[in-house]
Parts: sequence; structure tokens; C-alpha cells
Amino acid sequence: MDEKIIASEINKSNNILLVGHILPDGDDVSSLVSMSLGLEKLGKRTLAVIDDDIGEYLLEFPLVKKKIKKLDSEIEQNICNEFDLMIVLDSSSPDRIGRLENYLNFFHVIVIDHHITNTNFGNVNWVDPTVGATAQMVYRLLNFMSVDYDEQLATMNLLGIATDTGFFKYENTGPETFMVAASLIEKGASISYISNKIHGNTPLEHIYLYKDVISNLKLASQGLIAYSLITLDMLSKYNILPKDSPSLVENLRSIRGVEVAMIFQEFEKNLYHVSLRSKEWADVSKIALDFGGGGHPRAAGFSIKAEDILVEIQKIVEHITNFLKS
Ligand code: 5GP
Ligand code: MN
Repeated sequence: MDEKIIASEINKSNNILLVGHILPDGDDVSSLVSMSLGLEKLGKRTLAVIDDDIGEYLLEFPLVKKKIKKLDSEIEQNICNEFDLMIVLDSSSPDRIGRLENYLNFFHVIVIDHHITNTNFGNVNWVDPTVGATAQMVYRLLNFMSVDYDEQLATMNLLGIATDTGFFKYENTGPETFMVAASLIEKGASISYISNKIHGNTPLEHIYLYKDVISNLKLASQGLIAYSLITLDMLSKYNILPKDSPSLVENLRSIRGVEVAMIFQEFEKNLYHVSLRSKEWADVSKIALDFGGGGHPRAAGFSIKAEDILVEIQKIVEHITNFLKS
């Protein structure tokens, strides 16, 4: 499967529903906005939709706010009449798209994704785990379809490539990542604009929360595992909404000797999202799969329900300790 097949599928449609995942990240919103802008340049009508709220740091990009709608009853009423194709972006399994999963059977579905754990749930699946970001596949596709990039589209497309590769430093950064980035910068994208919005705009409350996360920090397995907890109470102490909670897991990974870092974040009462990162050799996508989630070898996640989170954490840490030994 490649961009040529996807382009010919898209050419058969005029009204295209673009779908992203819950707990949306930079790659997801970048892919949605870029597809939307690109396909509209080709005369298609598009609607980009997510069944979740978007974090404040991503809403700082005006086009994210403008182009992506939250799934609501009005959209749900018209969804089946108005669109002849669904394209799901950056989502590895049907549960990742929330209630939009209920509409998969009504549409011809194209899945475009780079997660190694993708379950190929579309009618047509273009899954390439060798690329750093879904946004990189979006660039390939739009470029193949001869979309004329302007500065805005170039910047929005670069956003996902930058965030999913940790600004070009993770293992998933390959030669093509730099070539695509160079091409987007040539077309007017600004990496410093993106970086300032992502890294130069931290609310002071997030720094205070970080202090509390460090107070909760624990190490296990002779320092190979580092983990911490963010509860709803901790967030409300600083008036931070769960959707705006900073991702601090990479700070834990940066500790010397740590291979696997983990943050348990409560996003609804007794419901936790678990973010996993590894540094060099542990495949955390396999750990996430064991708990019903998914992701990449160096970044993965899953969700759990827990009455007593400390008990669950103990079990998960034990599981990972055994996983690291095997
Ligand atoms: P994060 O820790 O930033 O939420 O997610 C890291 C990576 O794991 C992302 O690529 C994300 O798509 C994936 N991921 C996170 N949570 C889940 C989950 O619950 N299910 C699946 N399938 N993937 C997840
Ligand atoms: Mn991604």
C-alpha cells in the first residue's frame, strides 16, 4: 500500500470526513488540518472531527481551532448523509476514535497511520511504521496529489513531524524526516514558530505541578523504571483541566539509568491514562498491548480503571520488571 493507491481512492470522493483520535496529540491535529487544507485545495469538501477536547497548547495554532470540530449531536445527525468517504488518521485501533467507531460500518474507510500496533480496521489501510509521524505520510500523499503548499499548510504539516519525532531527535527520525521537513521549510514553514508555541509557552501552573510530580517520583527495578502519578486533585490544586495536563513522562525518561518511564494520569474519577516511554531498548508498545493499549516501541500508552491506583501501579510495575528481565 502506498500514497498512489490512497490518492486514487480519494479521487473517487468529493465529501470527505477526516477523523482523529481521542487524547489528540500534535501529530493527530497536524495530520487532520493538513489533510483538510490540502484536500480543499483540490476542490474536495472536508470535515475534520475528533470525539474529544483538544489540549490548550495545540489550540494555540489558530487553524487547529478553526478546522477541527468536536463530535456533537448536530454532526452525528448529518454524518451519514453528507460524506462519501471516511479517512482515519494516526489511530491504531477503532477504540481510539471514541464514538466515531460506531460509524465505521457506514463508510468506505481509509486508515492512514504509522503505529506498529495498528489493527488494520479500515477497508483500505496504509500503515507505515517506518515513518516518524502520520503527518509525514500526509506530506507524501498531498505532494503526490500535486497540492500547492502555502506557508500555513506547510507549517501545519511540519507541526506533527516535529512533535512526534521530539523535534527531530527520537529514533523514529530518519533521512526522509529531514527531507520532508526541509521541503516544508522551503515552502514557508517555520520551525521556530512551532517550537515557541510548543516549548516556549508553558503555563506557570504546569511548572508547579511538575514539582508535585517529582515529589511522587518512584524508581523500581534497580533504577530502570521511573514512574509518577497525576491525580485529579493535583490538577485542581492548580486549576489545570485534565485535557491540558502537561506530558511530563519525557522528563522522567531523561533520568540517568532509566530505561522505562511512566506517568499515570487520572483524566476522570478512577480512570487513568498511562503514558509509557523508553530510552534505548525496551519495546513499550508490547507492554501497552498487554494492557489493551498500543503505540510505538519508544512511546506507547493505555487506559485503566482503578479504585485504588496505588495497588494497580504496583501490579503494572511488577509486570514491567518481569518484562525487562525476559
Ligand atoms: P501518549 O503517552 O503520548 O499518550 O501516547 C504515546 C503513544 O502511544 C502515541 O503514539 C499514542 O497514539 C499511543 N497510545 C497512547 N495511549 C493509547 C491507547 O490507549 N491505545 C492505543 N492503541 N495507543 C495509545
Ligand atoms: Mn503519530
